[in-house]
Amino acid sequence: MKLLVALIYVIISTLLTACTDTPKDYQREFFAMGTLISVQLYDVPEAMAERTLNEIEADFQAMHRDWHAWEDGPLVHLNQALAAGESFAMPDVLAPLIPPAIALAEQSDHLFNPALGQLFALWGFQGNARDTLPAKTAIDAILQQQPRMTDLVLNGNIIASTNPAVQIDLGGFAKGWAVDLVIEKLRAAGIQNAIVNTGGDLRAIGSHGKRAWRIGIRHPEQPGAIAAVDIKDDEAVFTSGNYERYFEVDGIRYHHILDPRTGRPAEHTASMTVIHPNGASADAAATALFVAGDDWPRIARQLAIADVLRIRSDGAIEATATMAARIDWLTSQDSALIIRGYNEAN
Ligand code: AMP
Ligand code: MG
Repeated sequence: MKLLVALIYVIISTLLTACTDTPKDYQREFFAMGTLISVQLYDVPEAMAERTLNEIEADFQAMHRDWHAWEDGPLVHLNQALAAGESFAMPDVLAPLIPPAIALAEQSDHLFNPALGQLFALWGFQGNARDTLPAKTAIDAILQQQPRMTDLVLNGNIIASTNPAVQIDLGGFAKGWAVDLVIEKLRAAGIQNAIVNTGGDLRAIGSHGKRAWRIGIRHPEQPGAIAAVDIKDDEAVFTSGNYERYFEVDGIRYHHILDPRTGRPAEHTASMTVIHPNGASADAAATALFVAGDDWPRIARQLAIADVLRIRSDGAIEATATMAARIDWLTSQDSALIIRGYNEAN
């Protein structure tokens, strides 16, 4: 009898040890940068996971303050200086974002144009939902001054602008930069399997054990995912969608991704998803390609973005061949997928 009890004890404790040895997920969710952030770590010692998640949450709150375009902080101070025609010494938390934002604006033919802060503020996507459209004269007054990232003059951390109409708004890019910084930090700490998700836009590294991280791509018109992709080791998946932030006037929806050529919400696209190793490039590219509309293959080539999925406003779906090859559709599609890409003559 004693032997039996001992044997059962050994079996149970072996099972328990086996359970605790199974790698675990650690997840933390919180609000920052105007969205729900979710960080998931896999196969990390528990104490390290807790400490790291605490640090990341604090990092996101700091990035929220440092890069906010209208809550008092370094970017607001920078914009005040530019409007006054003065130069500004950028703190280290802000300075590194500006050169890549200039480069991405140039590579996208300024369809990604974070210098249009005045226009974004005019449309009011920053604050309460509005029930009237901004005046055409007010839109035109901003466009006539042609604010562009290339109006900025950098000398180390000192920034000035040759155009006082430049107001920087990093809303189309900052989440990408944030996930890159956080992934770098995780890697430096020796963490190899993680997802850093900012409201559906994310970068994932490693895998979930034997399975690749599987990422859903949201359906622009229905709840839930339209498709899924598996992450290859280290990639960012970013989507710009007309459903993310918008208001309605007389039954017409006005969304928050503005076309710098018209000063109005970009037309003909419902959502634009890109996959790229780097989060900042993926974020800026999703915004730029959304604005580009039918011209997206040309801008994707300039930005060196290979994997693109566009859901048009009319419901048709376009993708590059590399993207089409890796997508798993979760809903049946009414029409054939249109393959477009780098070699297309347009
Ligand atoms: P995203 O969701 O990444 O496409 O970013 C949209 C946000 O970026 C908006 O809320 C604006 O703050 C800003 N934005 C809108 N249109 C543009 C544009 N053409 N270029 C750069 N940023 C933009
Ligand atoms: Mg973006």
